[in-house]
Amino acid sequence: MSRNRGKDTGPEVALRVLCWSSGLRYRLDVKIIGKPDFVFVREKVAVFVDGCFWHGCPAHYNAPKTRSDFWEAKLHKNRLRDEMVTKELQDSGWLVLRYWEHDIKTATQREERVREIQAAIQARRAEAI
Ligand SMILES: [Zn+2]
Repeated sequence: MSRNRGKDTGPEVALRVLCWSSGLRYRLDVKIIGKPDFVFVREKVAVFVDGCFWHGCPAHYNAPKTRSDFWEAKLHKNRLRDEMVTKELQDSGWLVLRYWEHDIKTATQREERVREIQAAIQARRAEAI
């Protein structure tokens, strides 16, 4: 579903811009499974921002009234794919950070997320020594 998320606009861009200005040098478009929103290659940390609608956030997902079977099936497929991607990445040694769109809406939330990402990266660096 990554093509439908509007990769170059919105809160996920604000999140990574804040990461960058905090000195966290991510990369985009790293060719690994699941197409993470951004990636720290050396530390093997992959960050995903999941849209509340497309990925079925428990707090905000509202099933469309029409074609509900279609949407149900689509959501189910997306969730299975998210799980599969997370598992495959973890199995190959990646740390996967998944955030809901609603977790990065405000500047304060994004600052918290950046601190988490920073802590995760530092922990990975410490492990590698
Ligand atoms: Zn949500």
